[in-house]
Amino acid sequence: MSDTMDRPQQPAAAQTTAEASATTDAVVATRSLTKVYGTGDAAVKALRGVDVEIGRGQLTAIMGPSGSGKSTLMHIMAGLDRPSEGTVSVDGVEITGLKERDLTQLRRDKIGFIFQSFNLLPMLNAQENIVLPLTISRTPVDKGWFERLIGIVRLEDRLTHKPSELSGGQQQRVAVARSLVAQPAVLFADEPTGNLDSRRGEEVLQLLRQSVDEFGQTIIMVTHDAHAASISDRVLFLKDGVIVHDHGSMSSDDIYDVIRSLEGICPADADGDGQGRTLAAELCAPANAAPEVVATATGGRDGDGAGLRAER
Ligand code: ADP
Repeated sequence: MSDTMDRPQQPAAAQTTAEASATTDAVVATRSLTKVYGTGDAAVKALRGVDVEIGRGQLTAIMGPSGSGKSTLMHIMAGLDRPSEGTVSVDGVEITGLKERDLTQLRRDKIGFIFQSFNLLPMLNAQENIVLPLTISRTPVDKGWFERLIGIVRLEDRLTHKPSELSGGQQQRVAVARSLVAQPAVLFADEPTGNLDSRRGEEVLQLLRQSVDEFGQTIIMVTHDAHAASISDRVLFLKDGVIVHDHGSMSSDDIYDVIRSLEGICPADADGDGQGRTLAAELCAPANAAPEVVATATGGRDGDGAGLRAER
């Protein structure tokens, strides 16, 4: 368990500000990000003030229960959607005020994507699919880089095959290579293992990890998969549109416990006695927790997870 795991729960804003100021070289930074869908009675606050900095050359996972705002945050950070309030900068460029055309250009130059569905073009072969971002931006292919990339994703003998002639794992490797071919400042991965069996999923995770370790790629990955998140350098947990936890590298078990506590399920050992998973104990704010932690009127001492709203 990392040092950060034992930190007492702090108000989200204070916690993320502390994390942010510790990061010196941020590729993506958000300030006071809010997103409201709809208006009036139908309004949904998907993000309620997100301040975060994503360090260069790090793999960051974004987790949280369904509806917590993960996709919204990712889409706004990637310039695919605009916030209601607040700002986002990508590789030093404030994108929030950019015109649509400039934003499109920036996405092309600085951002890579891996989606759950591979989104390969069926009429193009593997090589043509991989270099597509460069073809679109009329950028010459860096042959040395291309060959290195193809070696890493092990597609040397599949380059002339169309997607229909490739296995699911090979298709995903084409998608990974395509996302890296332009050497983006940041790569966004949306449930990259979602459609794959565990062996193929593992292979993709290793490729992502390798791209961070070997060539300093920055990756932001939204995932439901605790194992996928456990390969990350940092795990952000969202709940109700706010980052409620921000941790360094975590084990799958700890990630799973946090997710369950965010969903209101407290593990049996969450009694704060220090014998078991102390993080889960902290999150569940049991009745015998330290006296300075006081549950709000919404409760939280009955294992309903509302203890996450505990106040100091
Ligand atoms: P997650 O990715 O964590 O499941 P989302 O970012 O998709 O969460 O959604 C956050 C909240 O915003 C949810 O309550 C969802 O129903 C709502 N939401 C997302 N997209 C829209 C939309 N286009 N219109 C209205 N509400 C939306």
